[in-house]
Amino acid sequence: MIVEIINTGSELMLGRVLNTHQQWLCRRLADLGHVVTRQVAIADEGQAIQSAVREALGRADVVITTGGLGPTSDDITRELIAELLGKKLIENKAVLAHIESFFAKRGRPRPIKTDVETFVPEGAEVFLNATGTAPGLAMKIPSASSQWLVMLPGPPRELRPMFDASVVPLLKREFTDEIFICRTLLTTGIGESRVQEMVEADLQPLVMRGLEVGYCARPGAVDVRLVACGATAEKLVGEAEAVVQRILGENIYGRDDEEIEQVVVKLLAQKKKTLAVAESCTGGLIASRITDVPGASEVFLGGVVSYANLAKEKLLSVPAETLRQHGAVSEAVAKAMALNVREKFGTDFAIAVTGIAGPGGGTDEKPVGTVFIALASAGGVAVKKFLNVWERATFKQVTATQALEWLRTVSA
Ligand code: ATP
Ligand code: MG
Repeated sequence: MIVEIINTGSELMLGRVLNTHQQWLCRRLADLGHVVTRQVAIADEGQAIQSAVREALGRADVVITTGGLGPTSDDITRELIAELLGKKLIENKAVLAHIESFFAKRGRPRPIKTDVETFVPEGAEVFLNATGTAPGLAMKIPSASSQWLVMLPGPPRELRPMFDASVVPLLKREFTDEIFICRTLLTTGIGESRVQEMVEADLQPLVMRGLEVGYCARPGAVDVRLVACGATAEKLVGEAEAVVQRILGENIYGRDDEEIEQVVVKLLAQKKKTLAVAESCTGGLIASRITDVPGASEVFLGGVVSYANLAKEKLLSVPAETLRQHGAVSEAVAKAMALNVREKFGTDFAIAVTGIAGPGGGTDEKPVGTVFIALASAGGVAVKKFLNVWERATFKQVTATQALEWLRTVSA
């Protein structure tokens, strides 16, 4: 199946918005076994949109457009595509009812401008927008046997759930014979090349039978992607997963789209354990990532961002003497932070981090990137030292991932 993507939006061409749909859709489609062959971004301009769609339909089985379905004057994709395909726009009662209830729930009158969103090309399949107003649209192109044109709204928070809820089922329904299995095992704590070295030889016999293996390094994590096609795909990927589990099991925190913080919250909730954090160099990122997870309130009681020494003393009762003697970035201070935050919040677990993000502040003894992570529990406190040499944003993500990984292993 040939898939092409057309991202519309003058804001993309002006560099005001990063084209995240390109990456997100390509990734999702690849996970489903459809590698996108071509992607273009174009301005909200009649000629450009129509010629891009016409060209893409000359090559692809599925063409996906993004953006331009909204109610403003620059939202012209729906009209232009209807015109190109010679389809009338017809008012759709279900869309109207959906938009009315969308505004009613928010206690606002429905703007008259949204009228245009209720008009859909004749014969189009309509995807109601669970997180917005403009519906997505899918049209079977009459000339070819199974050629589809799919139109999705621009805002990521609308496009993403709609793709999963509506486009994935459509592709599965219309392109049934393309069996494809993709599983991603998510590891942490080992570098990318080491991960490959560890599993390569044992996966080789499966590679000979058609398995594809990919590695993807992210801050603090490495994904191992196992892909196979055809009738034996499920079996092959299953065998490969068993191999990777056997070798890397301890370092695997999840699969597919799971985040380590989701796993931590799930495990703590299962065990009915609670957590507090004391963060210096991560500036609240651990707490932020944990509170991204629905249901975090069951396990996460709170935290302290104690950036300055004074904050460590006043809010976490780290003795001034400990700070003076060992320095803020030290095993002793990390331990005191973890023990004291645990006591103050009365939790089962507490994690504390202190480190040097850089670029300044390093010494020979404690170079930039030095991090101490301490974990306190009923059994006492332990500390680990890491050297995370990255620019600040990555440093924070990597450090937060290390802390979360430690929590995962103790709560498993
Ligand atoms: P709306 O109803 O919000 O107008 P729309 O379907 O008309 O939605 P656009 O007007 O094209 O979509 O885009 C709306 C917003 O969605 C843009 O301002 C931008 O923030 C975001 N957006 C659009 N296209 C992309 C893209 N390719 N990548 C990331 N964000 C995008
Ligand atoms: Mg718009």
